[in-house]
Amino acid sequence: VIEAGQAEHSVITTCAYCGVGCGFKAEMRGTEVVRMMPWKDGQANHGHSCVKGRFAWGYATHKERILKPMIRAKITDPWREVSWEEAIAYAASEFKRIQAKYGQDSIGGITSSRCTNEETYLVQKLVRAGFGNNNVDTCARVCHSPTGYGLSTTFGTSAGTQDFDSVMQADVILVIGANPTDAHPVFGSRMKKRLREGARLIVADPRRIDLVRTPHVEADYHLQLKPGANVALINAMAHVVVAEGLVAEDYVAERCDPVEFARWRAFIAEQRHSPEAVEAITGVPAADVRAATRLYATGGNAAIYYGLGVTEHSQGSTMVMGMANLAMATGNVGREGVGVNPLRGQNNVQGSCDMGSFPHEFTGYRHVSNDAVRESFEAVWNVTLRGEPGLRIPNMLDAAVDGTFKGLYIQGEDIAQSDPDITHVTAGLAAMECVVVQDLFLNETASFAHVFLPGSSFLEKDGTFTNAERRISMVRQALPPMAVYADWEVTMLLSNALGYPMDYKHPSEIMDEIARLTPTFAGVSFEKIERLGSVQWPCNDKAPEGTPTMHVGGFVRGKGRFAITEFVPTDERTSARFPLILTTGRILSQYNVGAQTRRTENVVWHEEDLLEIHPFDAEHRGIADGDWVSLVSRAGETSLRAKISDRMQPGVVYTTFHNPETAANVVTTDYSDWATNCPEYKVTAVQVRLTNHR
Ligand code: SF4
Repeated sequence: VIEAGQAEHSVITTCAYCGVGCGFKAEMRGTEVVRMMPWKDGQANHGHSCVKGRFAWGYATHKERILKPMIRAKITDPWREVSWEEAIAYAASEFKRIQAKYGQDSIGGITSSRCTNEETYLVQKLVRAGFGNNNVDTCARVCHSPTGYGLSTTFGTSAGTQDFDSVMQADVILVIGANPTDAHPVFGSRMKKRLREGARLIVADPRRIDLVRTPHVEADYHLQLKPGANVALINAMAHVVVAEGLVAEDYVAERCDPVEFARWRAFIAEQRHSPEAVEAITGVPAADVRAATRLYATGGNAAIYYGLGVTEHSQGSTMVMGMANLAMATGNVGREGVGVNPLRGQNNVQGSCDMGSFPHEFTGYRHVSNDAVRESFEAVWNVTLRGEPGLRIPNMLDAAVDGTFKGLYIQGEDIAQSDPDITHVTAGLAAMECVVVQDLFLNETASFAHVFLPGSSFLEKDGTFTNAERRISMVRQALPPMAVYADWEVTMLLSNALGYPMDYKHPSEIMDEIARLTPTFAGVSFEKIERLGSVQWPCNDKAPEGTPTMHVGGFVRGKGRFAITEFVPTDERTSARFPLILTTGRILSQYNVGAQTRRTENVVWHEEDLLEIHPFDAEHRGIADGDWVSLVSRAGETSLRAKISDRMQPGVVYTTFHNPETAANVVTTDYSDWATNCPEYKVTAVQVRLTNHR
C-alpha cells in the first residue's frame, strides 16, 4: 500500500469495469500508477467506488501483457514476434486476399465495450468504409441488444431514461433480473440508501439476491419467478393495471399513440394474462403479483431497474417492451424518480451501441438503409456505403462454419469464452483463414488467431466512456502505451494498410467527427466534457449541456408506443435427461470472464465458480456442499463444485461464469432473442451429477 503523500501527481479518469462509470484519480509517481482513488467530484459516483475499480487495476501492467505484435500462418504454428509494420501489413494482405478470393462480405469486425467511444467508432468505420460491408458487431450483442430494440420501439431511443441520482426521488423501486449490489455496486449502494429512507422495493428474480433481505433493507415483495417466465409476469402485472383501473388515463391520452394503446389494452385485458391464469407458468402466487402491481402503480414515483436477467432470454426484446408498456400505462416515464433503466454491464456498452457498432445501424441508432443518413456519412467518409445490414456475431460464426466467412478483426473481446455454445464459437473461429485479435492478453480467442496485435488499457489512452445513464466521461492517459500504440491508432494503421486512409492526431478529432455526423451528439466535444465534468446525451442545440432525464414532456419518438407482448415459452425445456434449469450471474469480486480481475494479486480475486443447488435437489443426487459435480446440457459439459443454497427454488441451479477453468458457457445453448440474437444465457436445461473429481 502506497501512502497518499508519496504520489507526485494524479490523473482523473474513469473506471474500466462496469456501466456505473465511476470517476477515479490515478495517483502517480513518475510514470507509475501507485493508487486508484475514487474521485470525489465524479458525477456518477460522488466519491464512492467498489473493490474492483479501487483495487483490481493491476492487470493494466500485468506481466502477462503481450507487448509485441505476433503472427503465424496456421493456428497450430508457434507465434512469431514481428514489428508493428510487418504485423499490420500481414493482416491487411490476408484480408485483401480473402476478399479477392471469397468476396467482399467474407470478412468482418467485432468491437468491444471495453474500449473507448472513439475506438469503437473507428472499428465500425474501418468495417463499413475499409472492408466495404456492414459486418460489424459488438459484445452488446450478447448482453443489452434487446434493450436497444425494446426501448427504441416503444420510447424512440435505445437508452435508459434516467440519471442515477434519479433513484433518490423514487418511491417504489422495481428491480427485475438485476443484482445491483454485486454487479453495479456503487449504484446499488445509492439504491439501498433510498430504500433505507423508506422507498418500497419489489424484486422480480428467480434467485434471492442480497437486496431481497440485507441489513436495514427488505423487499416488500420478492416475485421469485421461474427462469424464462419474465414476459408472462410483466403481462400479468400490466393486466392488473388495466383490470383494476390503475391506468394513468390522462398521461396515456396526452403522451401515447391512441390506436396502439387501444390495441394493447384489449390484448392485455384478456383473462389469459391474469396473474391467476399464468401462476403455473411464473411460479409466483397471483396474490403477490396483484399486491406488487398495486404498489408499483399507486405508490408514487415508480422506477424500474433491470439487467441481463431481462435481456438474455429468447424473449429479451419482448420483455423490455413489456416493462416500457407497464411504465407508460402507469405514467412512470418522463420525470425524476421514475423510468425504465437498464443497468448496463460493461464500462462502455452504452457507448459501443451509440457508436454504430451494430450491423444495421450507424451512430445514434440510424438504420443503414436510410438513404439520407447514409449519404451524410458518405460525404464525410468519402466512400460509397452499403445500405443492407451486415452479419451479427452468431451469423458470422454460422457463415464461417458453412465456409463463406473467412476473416475477422476482433478488438478487445474474448468470444471463445464469453459467447454461448463455445463449441460452435470455436468451430467458427477455427474455420477462418485470418483471425486478428487485438487485446491485452493472449486470451482464449487468441488460440484461434493468426495475428495478435497488442492492445492498450484504459490507463494508456485518452478517450471517452459512456455509462448506463448516457453519461460521457473522460478517460485520460496516465501511462504511455506499453506496446507503443493506443487501440485507436492500431485501427488507423490497419485501415491505412487496407487502402482506406485515416489520419486522426488525437481522439478528440474522432469525437468531433462523431458529433458532426450524429444529431444526439452534435453538442459533444472533449472541451465541453472537460468543462462540465461529463455530458449526458442527447447533447445538441436543444440541450447544450446534456439531458439527465429523457422523454420529459413527450417521447423521443413522438407518441409513446405500446407493443403487443405475447408470451412465447422458450424452446429450451427440461426433460427426463435434463431436469433442472440453469441460470447465471456475477459476484462482486469478479468481472465477466475474469480477464482483468483474475490478474490481481489479492487472493480474494480468485474465487472459483460454484454451482448453487437447492438442498432438495442436492440430497436427491447425493451431493454435499463442496462436492465436485458435472454440469451437462445438450451443448456441452463442465465440472465445478457444488454449494448447497436455498437462494434458488428446487429445480433451478445457478452459477457464475468468471473462470476459464469452469467455462460455464460450454453448457449454454444457441437459443437467442427473436429480435436481436442476444443469447439465452439465463435458461439452460441441465443435469447435475456427483463426480467428486474435476
Ligand atoms: Fe468501477 Fe463499477 Fe465498481 Fe464503479 S461500481 S468502481 S464503475 S466496477
